[in-house]
Amino acid sequence: MGLVYDYIGVGFGPSNLALAIATEEFAQRSGREPNACFIERKPAFSWHEGMLIDGSTMQISFLKDLATLRNPASRFTFINYLKERGRLEDFVNLKTFFPSREEYNDYLGWAAAAFAEQVHYGEEVINVEPFYSAGDCAGVEVLSRSADGQLLRRRARNLVFGIGGVAQVPAAFAGLSDARIVHSSRYLGGLDGLLGEAAQPRRVAIVGGGQSAAEIFYDLSSRCAQVEATLLLRGSTLKPSDDSPFVNEIFNAGFTDRIFAQSAAQRAQLLDEYRNTNYSVVDLELIEKIYQLFYQQKLRGEHRHRLLGHCEVTAVSTTGAGVQLALRNKLDGALDTQTFDAVILATGYRRDYHRTLLAGLADYIESDAVDRQYRLNLRPGCPAQIFLQGSCEHSHGLSDTLLSVLAMRSAELVAAMFAEPHGLPAREPLRLASASLG
Ligand SMILES: Cc1cc2nc3c(=O)[nH]c(=O)nc-3n(C[C@H](O)[C@H](O)[C@H](O)COP(=O)(O)OP(=O)(O)OC[C@H]3O[C@@H](n4cnc5c(N)ncnc54)[C@H](O)[C@@H]3O)c2cc1C
Repeated sequence: MGLVYDYIGVGFGPSNLALAIATEEFAQRSGREPNACFIERKPAFSWHEGMLIDGSTMQISFLKDLATLRNPASRFTFINYLKERGRLEDFVNLKTFFPSREEYNDYLGWAAAAFAEQVHYGEEVINVEPFYSAGDCAGVEVLSRSADGQLLRRRARNLVFGIGGVAQVPAAFAGLSDARIVHSSRYLGGLDGLLGEAAQPRRVAIVGGGQSAAEIFYDLSSRCAQVEATLLLRGSTLKPSDDSPFVNEIFNAGFTDRIFAQSAAQRAQLLDEYRNTNYSVVDLELIEKIYQLFYQQKLRGEHRHRLLGHCEVTAVSTTGAGVQLALRNKLDGALDTQTFDAVILATGYRRDYHRTLLAGLADYIESDAVDRQYRLNLRPGCPAQIFLQGSCEHSHGLSDTLLSVLAMRSAELVAAMFAEPHGLPAREPLRLASASLG
Protein backbone atom coordinates (compact mmCIF):
# COMPACT_ATOMS: atom_id res chain seq x y z
CA MET A 1 0.00 0.00 0.00
CA GLY A 2 3.05 2.28 0.26
CA LEU A 3 3.41 5.14 2.70
CA VAL A 4 0.18 6.18 4.39
CA TYR A 5 0.46 9.37 6.43
CA ASP A 6 -1.36 9.71 9.73
CA TYR A 7 -2.57 12.98 8.28
CA ILE A 8 -1.99 15.31 5.38
CA GLY A 9 -2.55 19.02 5.89
CA VAL A 10 -3.87 20.83 2.83
CA GLY A 11 -2.44 24.36 2.87
CA PHE A 12 0.22 25.64 5.24
CA GLY A 13 -1.04 28.95 6.57
CA PRO A 14 -1.40 29.77 10.28
CA SER A 15 -4.08 27.08 10.85
CA ASN A 16 -2.03 24.11 9.71
CA LEU A 17 1.13 25.68 11.11
CA ALA A 18 -0.54 25.72 14.53
CA LEU A 19 -1.50 22.08 13.94
CA ALA A 20 2.12 21.18 13.12
CA ILE A 21 3.17 22.74 16.42
CA ALA A 22 0.44 20.99 18.42
CA THR A 23 1.42 17.70 16.76
CA GLU A 24 5.08 18.18 17.66
CA GLU A 25 4.17 18.94 21.27
CA PHE A 26 1.88 15.89 21.36
CA ALA A 27 4.80 13.76 20.11
CA GLN A 28 7.04 15.13 22.87
CA ARG A 29 4.41 14.38 25.54
CA SER A 30 3.29 10.99 24.32
CA GLY A 31 6.40 9.53 22.71
CA ARG A 32 4.25 8.81 19.65
CA GLU A 33 5.49 10.37 16.44
CA PRO A 34 2.64 10.99 14.03
CA ASN A 35 3.69 10.82 10.42
CA ALA A 36 2.32 13.99 8.84
CA CYS A 37 3.01 16.22 5.89
CA PHE A 38 1.58 19.45 4.50
CA ILE A 39 1.01 20.57 0.93
CA GLU A 40 1.22 24.31 0.23
CA ARG A 41 0.84 25.90 -3.18
CA LYS A 42 3.02 28.93 -2.46
CA PRO A 43 6.75 28.50 -3.14
CA ALA A 44 7.62 29.42 0.46
CA PHE A 45 5.79 30.42 3.64
CA SER A 46 4.06 33.80 3.59
CA TRP A 47 0.96 35.23 5.21
CA HIS A 48 -1.36 37.52 3.21
CA GLU A 49 1.71 38.93 1.46
CA GLY A 50 -0.46 41.11 -0.81
CA MET A 51 -1.70 43.03 2.23
CA LEU A 52 1.49 43.56 4.21
CA ILE A 53 0.91 47.28 3.96
CA ASP A 54 3.45 49.50 5.67
CA GLY A 55 2.14 50.52 9.06
CA SER A 56 -0.64 47.89 9.20
CA THR A 57 -0.96 46.19 12.55
CA MET A 58 -2.46 42.99 13.92
CA GLN A 59 -6.06 43.03 15.05
CA ILE A 60 -5.43 40.45 17.69
CA SER A 61 -3.25 40.36 20.78
CA PHE A 62 0.13 38.66 20.28
CA LEU A 63 -0.87 36.47 23.25
CA LYS A 64 -3.26 34.75 20.86
CA ASP A 65 -0.31 33.47 18.87
CA LEU A 66 0.18 29.92 17.56
CA ALA A 67 0.69 28.34 20.98
CA THR A 68 0.44 30.54 24.11
CA LEU A 69 -3.21 29.95 25.03
CA ARG A 70 -2.64 26.20 24.99
CA ASN A 71 0.93 26.09 26.20
CA PRO A 72 2.62 29.31 27.32
CA ALA A 73 5.84 27.30 27.74
CA SER A 74 5.89 26.33 24.05
CA ARG A 75 9.01 27.24 22.09
CA PHE A 76 6.69 28.63 19.39
CA THR A 77 5.25 31.56 21.33
CA PHE A 78 5.53 35.09 19.98
CA ILE A 79 7.52 35.99 23.08
CA ASN A 80 10.09 33.27 22.38
CA TYR A 81 10.29 34.48 18.78
CA LEU A 82 11.09 37.98 20.05
CA LYS A 83 13.68 36.59 22.44
CA GLU A 84 15.38 34.58 19.68
CA ARG A 85 15.34 37.58 17.36
CA GLY A 86 16.86 39.79 20.08
CA ARG A 87 13.93 42.22 20.25
CA LEU A 88 12.06 41.17 23.40
CA GLU A 89 12.97 44.19 25.51
CA ASP A 90 12.49 46.59 22.60
CA PHE A 91 9.05 45.13 21.97
CA VAL A 92 8.14 45.63 25.63
CA ASN A 93 9.09 49.29 25.23
CA LEU A 94 6.55 49.61 22.40
CA LYS A 95 3.84 49.06 25.06
CA THR A 96 1.53 47.29 22.64
CA PHE A 97 -0.35 44.02 22.29
CA PHE A 98 -0.63 44.53 18.54
CA PRO A 99 2.55 43.94 16.53
CA SER A 100 2.82 45.14 12.95
CA ARG A 101 1.54 42.76 10.32
CA GLU A 102 5.04 42.69 8.89
CA GLU A 103 6.43 41.45 12.22
CA TYR A 104 3.67 38.86 12.63
CA ASN A 105 4.41 37.51 9.17
CA ASP A 106 8.04 37.23 10.21
CA TYR A 107 6.99 35.41 13.40
CA LEU A 108 4.85 32.95 11.44
CA GLY A 109 7.69 32.39 8.95
CA TRP A 110 10.10 31.80 11.84
CA ALA A 111 7.77 29.12 13.25
CA ALA A 112 7.13 27.61 9.80
CA ALA A 113 10.87 27.20 9.21
CA ALA A 114 10.96 24.56 11.97
CA PHE A 115 8.69 22.32 9.85
CA ALA A 116 10.36 22.88 6.47
CA GLU A 117 11.00 19.16 6.02
CA GLN A 118 7.33 18.30 6.41
CA VAL A 119 5.98 20.88 3.98
CA HIS A 120 5.81 20.39 0.23
CA TYR A 121 5.85 23.97 -1.00
CA GLY A 122 4.97 24.88 -4.57
CA GLU A 123 2.34 22.15 -4.92
CA GLU A 124 -1.37 22.79 -5.31
CA VAL A 125 -3.83 20.17 -4.12
CA ILE A 126 -6.30 19.59 -6.95
CA ASN A 127 -8.34 16.57 -5.86
CA VAL A 128 -8.93 14.05 -3.10
CA GLU A 129 -9.99 10.48 -3.83
CA PRO A 130 -10.53 7.31 -1.80
CA PHE A 131 -7.94 4.57 -1.98
CA TYR A 132 -8.68 0.89 -1.45
CA SER A 133 -7.08 -2.10 0.20
CA ALA A 134 -8.52 -5.58 -0.36
CA GLY A 135 -11.61 -3.98 -1.85
CA ASP A 136 -12.30 -1.68 1.11
CA CYS A 137 -11.79 2.02 1.32
CA ALA A 138 -8.65 2.44 3.43
CA GLY A 139 -8.15 6.21 3.42
CA VAL A 140 -7.75 9.20 1.15
CA GLU A 141 -5.39 9.89 -1.72
CA VAL A 142 -4.41 13.50 -2.21
CA LEU A 143 -3.59 14.57 -5.75
CA SER A 144 -1.45 17.66 -6.19
CA ARG A 145 0.26 19.49 -9.03
CA SER A 146 3.74 20.96 -8.69
CA ALA A 147 4.78 24.28 -10.22
CA ASP A 148 6.37 22.44 -13.16
CA GLY A 149 3.14 20.54 -13.86
CA GLN A 150 4.10 17.22 -12.25
CA LEU A 151 1.21 15.27 -10.69
CA LEU A 152 1.84 13.74 -7.28
CA ARG A 153 -0.22 11.37 -5.12
CA ARG A 154 0.02 10.87 -1.37
CA ARG A 155 -2.09 8.73 0.92
CA ALA A 156 -3.35 9.43 4.40
CA ARG A 157 -5.68 8.21 7.14
CA ASN A 158 -6.76 11.76 7.96
CA LEU A 159 -6.97 14.99 6.02
CA VAL A 160 -6.92 18.45 7.58
CA PHE A 161 -7.94 21.42 5.48
CA GLY A 162 -6.46 24.81 6.27
CA ILE A 163 -6.83 26.45 2.88
CA GLY A 164 -8.17 29.85 3.92
CA GLY A 165 -10.50 31.68 1.54
CA VAL A 166 -10.85 32.19 -2.18
CA ALA A 167 -11.07 35.78 -3.44
CA GLN A 168 -14.71 36.82 -3.62
CA VAL A 169 -15.72 39.00 -6.54
CA PRO A 170 -19.01 40.94 -6.87
CA ALA A 171 -21.41 39.66 -9.53
CA ALA A 172 -20.74 42.58 -11.90
CA PHE A 173 -17.05 41.57 -12.09
CA ALA A 174 -17.62 37.81 -12.47
CA GLY A 175 -15.68 36.25 -15.34
CA LEU A 176 -13.80 39.48 -16.14
CA SER A 177 -10.08 39.10 -16.54
CA ASP A 178 -8.27 42.42 -16.88
CA ALA A 179 -4.93 43.38 -15.35
CA ARG A 180 -6.48 46.67 -14.20
CA ILE A 181 -8.89 44.85 -11.88
CA VAL A 182 -7.27 43.17 -8.88
CA HIS A 183 -8.52 41.63 -5.66
CA SER A 184 -7.16 43.07 -2.41
CA SER A 185 -5.28 39.79 -1.80
CA ARG A 186 -2.98 40.86 -4.65
CA TYR A 187 -2.85 44.56 -3.74
CA LEU A 188 0.91 44.79 -3.14
CA GLY A 189 2.71 43.47 -6.16
CA GLY A 190 -0.29 44.07 -8.41
CA LEU A 191 -0.16 47.76 -7.51
CA ASP A 192 3.05 48.90 -9.25
CA GLY A 193 1.91 47.60 -12.62
CA LEU A 194 -1.47 49.28 -12.16
CA LEU A 195 -0.19 52.71 -11.26
CA GLY A 196 2.72 52.82 -13.68
CA GLU A 197 5.56 55.30 -13.58
CA ALA A 198 3.43 58.09 -14.96
CA ALA A 199 3.25 61.39 -13.12
CA GLN A 200 -0.24 62.05 -14.47
CA PRO A 201 -3.19 61.38 -12.14
CA ARG A 202 -4.35 57.78 -11.86
CA ARG A 203 -7.97 57.21 -10.93
CA VAL A 204 -8.30 54.22 -8.62
CA ALA A 205 -11.57 52.79 -7.31
CA ILE A 206 -11.57 50.61 -4.21
CA VAL A 207 -14.73 48.54 -3.86
CA GLY A 208 -15.63 47.53 -0.28
CA GLY A 209 -16.30 48.98 3.14
CA GLY A 210 -14.26 46.75 5.44
CA GLN A 211 -10.79 46.85 6.96
CA SER A 212 -8.93 45.88 3.77
CA ALA A 213 -10.77 48.49 1.67
CA ALA A 214 -10.02 51.20 4.22
CA GLU A 215 -6.37 50.18 4.54
CA ILE A 216 -5.87 50.24 0.77
CA PHE A 217 -7.72 53.54 0.41
CA TYR A 218 -5.57 55.15 3.11
CA ASP A 219 -2.35 53.64 1.78
CA LEU A 220 -3.00 54.86 -1.77
CA SER A 221 -4.18 58.31 -0.79
CA SER A 222 -1.42 59.01 1.71
CA ARG A 223 1.47 57.37 -0.15
CA CYS A 224 0.86 57.79 -3.89
CA ALA A 225 0.83 61.45 -4.89
CA GLN A 226 -0.52 60.70 -8.38
CA VAL A 227 -3.51 58.65 -7.18
CA GLU A 228 -7.07 59.92 -6.98
CA ALA A 229 -8.72 57.29 -4.80
CA THR A 230 -12.45 56.63 -4.67
CA LEU A 231 -13.91 54.31 -2.06
CA LEU A 232 -17.14 52.71 -3.26
CA LEU A 233 -19.12 51.11 -0.47
CA ARG A 234 -22.57 49.59 -0.31
CA GLY A 235 -23.14 50.72 3.27
CA SER A 236 -23.73 54.33 4.17
CA THR A 237 -20.23 55.05 5.47
CA LEU A 238 -17.20 53.55 7.24
CA LYS A 239 -18.21 52.01 10.57
CA PRO A 240 -15.95 50.98 13.48
CA SER A 241 -15.30 47.39 14.47
CA ASP A 242 -16.37 46.47 17.96
CA ASP A 243 -13.39 45.13 19.88
CA SER A 244 -14.62 46.11 23.33
CA PRO A 245 -13.84 43.62 26.11
CA PHE A 246 -17.24 41.95 26.72
CA VAL A 247 -17.87 41.60 23.00
CA ASN A 248 -14.36 40.29 22.47
CA GLU A 249 -15.22 37.29 24.64
CA ILE A 250 -16.86 35.71 21.60
CA PHE A 251 -13.32 35.02 20.40
CA ASN A 252 -12.46 33.08 23.57
CA ALA A 253 -11.86 29.41 22.83
CA GLY A 254 -14.65 28.45 25.26
CA PHE A 255 -17.19 30.36 23.23
CA THR A 256 -16.91 27.78 20.46
CA ASP A 257 -18.75 25.26 22.70
CA ARG A 258 -21.50 27.75 23.38
CA ILE A 259 -21.99 28.58 19.73
CA PHE A 260 -21.91 24.95 18.63
CA ALA A 261 -24.51 23.96 21.23
CA GLN A 262 -27.12 26.35 19.79
CA SER A 263 -29.72 25.54 17.18
CA ALA A 264 -28.94 26.66 13.64
CA ALA A 265 -31.35 29.58 13.98
CA GLN A 266 -29.85 30.73 17.29
CA ARG A 267 -26.36 30.47 15.87
CA ALA A 268 -27.32 32.56 12.85
CA GLN A 269 -28.79 35.15 15.18
CA LEU A 270 -25.62 35.27 17.30
CA LEU A 271 -23.39 35.54 14.24
CA ASP A 272 -25.51 38.40 13.02
CA GLU A 273 -25.40 40.11 16.39
CA TYR A 274 -21.59 40.02 16.46
CA ARG A 275 -20.98 40.58 12.74
CA ASN A 276 -19.65 44.06 13.45
CA THR A 277 -16.59 42.57 15.11
CA ASN A 278 -15.22 41.40 11.78
CA TYR A 279 -17.27 42.16 8.66
CA SER A 280 -17.70 45.49 6.83
CA VAL A 281 -16.11 47.33 9.75
CA VAL A 282 -12.85 49.19 10.24
CA ASP A 283 -10.51 49.93 13.15
CA LEU A 284 -11.61 53.21 14.70
CA GLU A 285 -8.06 54.59 14.58
CA LEU A 286 -7.94 54.10 10.81
CA ILE A 287 -11.35 55.68 10.36
CA GLU A 288 -10.07 58.71 12.24
CA LYS A 289 -7.01 58.94 10.00
CA ILE A 290 -9.19 58.79 6.89
CA TYR A 291 -11.50 61.46 8.29
CA GLN A 292 -8.48 63.65 8.96
CA LEU A 293 -7.40 63.17 5.34
CA PHE A 294 -10.79 64.34 4.05
CA TYR A 295 -10.72 67.29 6.42
CA GLN A 296 -7.31 68.26 5.06
CA GLN A 297 -8.72 68.11 1.51
CA LYS A 298 -11.57 70.43 2.47
CA LEU A 299 -9.13 72.83 4.08
CA ARG A 300 -7.15 72.99 0.85
CA GLY A 301 -10.22 73.08 -1.39
CA GLU A 302 -9.16 69.81 -3.04
CA HIS A 303 -11.43 66.96 -4.14
CA ARG A 304 -8.82 64.36 -4.99
CA HIS A 305 -10.17 61.47 -2.89
CA ARG A 306 -13.81 60.50 -2.50
CA LEU A 307 -16.00 58.19 -0.45
CA LEU A 308 -19.23 57.14 -2.16
CA GLY A 309 -21.69 55.41 0.17
CA HIS A 310 -24.85 53.46 -0.73
CA CYS A 311 -23.07 52.64 -3.95
CA GLU A 312 -23.50 49.44 -5.92
CA VAL A 313 -21.54 48.47 -9.02
CA THR A 314 -24.14 47.10 -11.43
CA ALA A 315 -22.03 46.63 -14.58
CA VAL A 316 -18.42 46.77 -15.66
CA SER A 317 -16.89 47.31 -19.10
CA THR A 318 -13.23 47.55 -19.97
CA THR A 319 -12.00 49.82 -22.74
CA GLY A 320 -8.67 51.32 -23.75
CA ALA A 321 -9.61 54.40 -21.74
CA GLY A 322 -10.07 52.51 -18.49
CA VAL A 323 -12.45 50.39 -16.48
CA GLN A 324 -15.96 51.78 -16.72
CA LEU A 325 -18.22 51.15 -13.72
CA ALA A 326 -21.99 51.57 -13.87
CA LEU A 327 -23.00 52.71 -10.38
CA ARG A 328 -26.38 52.73 -8.72
CA ASN A 329 -27.18 54.67 -5.58
CA LYS A 330 -29.04 52.20 -3.36
CA LEU A 331 -30.96 54.96 -1.60
CA ASP A 332 -32.46 56.94 -4.46
CA GLY A 333 -31.74 54.62 -7.40
CA ALA A 334 -29.68 57.30 -9.21
CA LEU A 335 -27.46 55.88 -11.95
CA ASP A 336 -24.00 57.07 -12.86
CA THR A 337 -21.03 55.87 -14.91
CA GLN A 338 -17.43 56.51 -13.89
CA THR A 339 -14.15 55.47 -15.45
CA PHE A 340 -11.05 54.40 -13.50
CA ASP A 341 -7.51 53.45 -14.42
CA ALA A 342 -7.59 50.64 -11.88
CA VAL A 343 -10.12 48.93 -9.64
CA ILE A 344 -9.27 47.09 -6.43
CA LEU A 345 -11.86 44.66 -5.11
CA ALA A 346 -11.64 44.53 -1.32
CA THR A 347 -14.68 42.30 -1.29
CA GLY A 348 -13.66 39.47 0.97
CA TYR A 349 -13.31 35.73 0.61
CA ARG A 350 -15.43 32.64 -0.06
CA ARG A 351 -14.84 29.69 2.22
CA ASP A 352 -16.23 26.75 0.28
CA TYR A 353 -13.34 25.66 -1.92
CA HIS A 354 -12.84 22.43 0.07
CA ARG A 355 -16.02 21.17 -1.59
CA THR A 356 -14.40 21.40 -5.02
CA LEU A 357 -11.28 19.63 -3.78
CA LEU A 358 -13.38 16.87 -2.20
CA ALA A 359 -15.41 16.17 -5.35
CA GLY A 360 -13.53 12.88 -5.88
CA LEU A 361 -14.74 11.68 -2.49
CA ALA A 362 -18.38 12.63 -3.06
CA ASP A 363 -19.64 9.03 -2.70
CA TYR A 364 -18.44 8.97 0.90
CA ILE A 365 -19.62 12.39 2.01
CA GLU A 366 -22.90 12.12 3.87
CA SER A 367 -23.48 15.85 4.26
CA ASP A 368 -21.86 19.24 4.67
CA ALA A 369 -22.18 18.94 8.43
CA VAL A 370 -19.24 18.90 10.82
CA ASP A 371 -19.10 17.74 14.41
CA ARG A 372 -17.66 19.75 17.31
CA GLN A 373 -14.19 18.46 16.40
CA TYR A 374 -14.55 19.97 12.89
CA ARG A 375 -14.97 16.49 11.32
CA LEU A 376 -16.93 16.27 8.13
CA ASN A 377 -19.85 13.88 8.22
CA LEU A 378 -18.74 10.85 6.19
CA ARG A 379 -20.66 7.67 5.38
CA PRO A 380 -19.78 4.39 7.02
CA GLY A 381 -17.29 2.61 4.80
CA CYS A 382 -14.73 5.40 4.71
CA PRO A 383 -12.37 5.11 7.68
CA ALA A 384 -10.72 8.47 6.94
CA GLN A 385 -11.45 11.57 8.98
CA ILE A 386 -11.61 14.91 7.23
CA PHE A 387 -11.26 18.07 9.29
CA LEU A 388 -12.17 21.56 8.16
CA GLN A 389 -10.54 24.70 9.54
CA GLY A 390 -11.72 28.13 8.46
CA SER A 391 -14.96 27.03 6.80
CA CYS A 392 -16.98 26.29 9.93
CA GLU A 393 -17.87 29.84 10.90
CA HIS A 394 -21.56 29.28 10.94
CA SER A 395 -21.30 26.17 13.16
CA HIS A 396 -18.29 27.13 15.32
CA GLY A 397 -18.51 30.91 15.40
CA LEU A 398 -16.76 34.00 14.11
CA SER A 399 -13.36 32.95 15.45
CA ASP A 400 -13.22 30.06 12.98
CA THR A 401 -11.75 32.11 10.11
CA LEU A 402 -9.46 34.13 12.38
CA LEU A 403 -6.35 33.55 14.45
CA SER A 404 -7.93 33.61 17.93
CA VAL A 405 -8.58 29.91 18.43
CA LEU A 406 -5.62 28.43 16.53
CA ALA A 407 -3.69 27.30 19.60
CA MET A 408 -6.72 25.51 21.07
CA ARG A 409 -8.32 24.22 17.87
CA SER A 410 -5.07 22.55 16.81
CA ALA A 411 -5.02 20.63 20.11
CA GLU A 412 -8.61 19.55 19.55
CA LEU A 413 -7.68 18.20 16.13
CA VAL A 414 -4.68 16.33 17.52
CA ALA A 415 -6.87 14.84 20.23
CA ALA A 416 -9.50 13.81 17.67
CA MET A 417 -6.93 12.15 15.43
CA PHE A 418 -4.78 10.53 18.07
CA ALA A 419 -7.32 9.97 20.84
CA GLU A 420 -5.31 11.87 23.38
CA PRO A 421 -7.11 11.74 26.73
CA HIS A 422 -8.16 15.38 26.73
CA GLY A 423 -11.74 14.64 27.52
CA LEU A 424 -12.22 14.72 23.76
CA PRO A 425 -13.52 11.57 22.11
CA ALA A 426 -11.93 10.25 18.94
CA ARG A 427 -14.19 9.35 16.02
CA GLU A 428 -17.36 9.45 18.03
CA PRO A 429 -19.95 11.20 15.89
CA LEU A 430 -21.09 14.04 18.07
CA ARG A 431 -23.87 16.45 17.31
CA LEU A 432 -23.51 17.72 13.81
CA ALA A 433 -23.95 21.19 12.44
CA SER A 434 -24.17 22.03 8.77
CA ALA A 435 -20.85 23.45 7.54
CA SER A 436 -22.29 25.21 4.52
CA LEU A 437 -22.18 28.96 4.53
CA GLY A 438 -25.74 29.06 3.36
C1 LIG B 1 -5.07 41.13 5.27
C2 LIG B 1 -5.59 40.24 6.32
C3 LIG B 1 -5.28 40.49 7.65
C4 LIG B 1 -5.76 39.67 8.65
N1 LIG B 1 -5.46 39.97 9.94
C5 LIG B 1 -5.97 39.22 10.92
C6 LIG B 1 -5.72 39.55 12.29
O1 LIG B 1 -5.05 40.54 12.59
N2 LIG B 1 -6.24 38.76 13.25
C7 LIG B 1 -7.00 37.66 12.94
O2 LIG B 1 -7.45 36.96 13.84
N3 LIG B 1 -7.26 37.33 11.66
C8 LIG B 1 -6.77 38.07 10.65
N4 LIG B 1 -7.05 37.75 9.35
C9 LIG B 1 -7.88 36.53 9.05
C10 LIG B 1 -7.07 35.36 8.43
O3 LIG B 1 -7.97 34.46 7.86
C11 LIG B 1 -6.21 34.65 9.40
O4 LIG B 1 -5.26 35.60 9.81
C12 LIG B 1 -5.37 33.46 8.90
O5 LIG B 1 -4.72 33.80 7.70
C13 LIG B 1 -6.13 32.16 8.76
O6 LIG B 1 -5.17 31.16 8.53
P1 LIG B 1 -5.44 29.90 7.61
O7 LIG B 1 -4.22 29.06 7.67
O8 LIG B 1 -6.73 29.27 8.00
O9 LIG B 1 -5.68 30.50 6.16
P2 LIG B 1 -4.64 31.24 5.20
O10 LIG B 1 -3.77 32.15 5.95
O11 LIG B 1 -5.44 31.81 4.09
O12 LIG B 1 -3.73 30.07 4.64
C14 LIG B 1 -4.22 29.09 3.76
C15 LIG B 1 -3.06 28.51 2.99
O13 LIG B 1 -3.53 27.43 2.18
C16 LIG B 1 -2.92 27.50 0.90
N5 LIG B 1 -3.79 26.82 -0.05
C17 LIG B 1 -5.04 27.18 -0.43
N6 LIG B 1 -5.53 26.31 -1.33
C18 LIG B 1 -4.57 25.36 -1.52
C19 LIG B 1 -4.48 24.19 -2.33
N7 LIG B 1 -5.49 23.81 -3.11
N8 LIG B 1 -3.35 23.48 -2.28
C20 LIG B 1 -2.32 23.85 -1.49
N9 LIG B 1 -2.34 24.96 -0.70
C21 LIG B 1 -3.46 25.69 -0.72
C22 LIG B 1 -2.76 29.00 0.65
O14 LIG B 1 -1.75 29.27 -0.30
C23 LIG B 1 -2.42 29.52 2.05
O15 LIG B 1 -1.04 29.57 2.28
C24 LIG B 1 -6.58 38.55 8.32
C25 LIG B 1 -6.91 38.30 7.00
C26 LIG B 1 -6.43 39.14 6.01
C27 LIG B 1 -6.81 38.87 4.59
